[in-house]
Amino acid sequence: MSKDKGEIGLLTETFNFMACDLEKAEQLRRNMIADSAHELRTPVTNILGYLEAIRDGMLKPDRTTIQSLYEEASQLSKLIDELQELTLAEAGELVLVRQPQDITRLINQTVEAAKAQATVQRISITTDLAENLPLCNIDSQQISQVLHNLLNNAIAHANKGGVITIASRKCGDEVEVSVADTGEGIPAEDLPNIFERFYRVDKSRARATGGSGLGLTIAKRLVEAHGGKIEVQSEVGKGSRFSFTVPISDFDPQERSS
Ligand code: ADP
Repeated sequence: MSKDKGEIGLLTETFNFMACDLEKAEQLRRNMIADSAHELRTPVTNILGYLEAIRDGMLKPDRTTIQSLYEEASQLSKLIDELQELTLAEAGELVLVRQPQDITRLINQTVEAAKAQATVQRISITTDLAENLPLCNIDSQQISQVLHNLLNNAIAHANKGGVITIASRKCGDEVEVSVADTGEGIPAEDLPNIFERFYRVDKSRARATGGSGLGLTIAKRLVEAHGGKIEVQSEVGKGSRFSFTVPISDFDPQERSS
């Protein structure tokens, strides 16, 4: 085969790549719409069920009924927010405002915000953070969303009296952050799928706790948009450890001030 494809050959190849990319994007879009419609249907069907029962005099519009309606509508609202975020991330349209940030401060802020919820469930949160970590080149809002999603999952799946440990360390030109819990763990056969959108290990329980199956997908997309990696290790009955990496910033404040 000739090495030199010539202009026409190159053009054809480029065109084929583009057509293939477009087809993939179209397929992704179709799947996303079908999956979303499926997920939105459940809370909407429940809300309609309540309203029809009230309209037909089968159910009193009392405090309990209104609370149930409120919970279904809240779940719908959360799902819509998450879908919007995921759509932006999947289309590569997420606008990242990356700046040199102190990730230790970000971790401590997220932990403080989650402590009240953890205390209610008698779960303690401890930190094991490396000292003097360099600044990271991140969008602080997006990375705190990643931390928030991982921490919320750890709280939801840790057993009462359990412990969650958030650790950080420097690995080459990245910082690794991990969130480990002493919870129920994830079966090995589910591990390859948990970052897929709408995937839940325990379908009925996730539905009861309002889990959308999007938290980890969003976390993965956000970490990857930063050029990092997200991973999980888990053992049933022992717990799970999620870790992700973010790049270190080139900006060194000490160098600048000297
Ligand atoms: P959800 O919003 O339903 O929690 P996620 O995408 O965050 O969705 O998680 C997907 C599934 O992975 C969850 O339904 C749950 O079964 C499992 N999972 C996530 N984090 C943990 C954890 N720390 N321990 C056990 N299972 C977990």
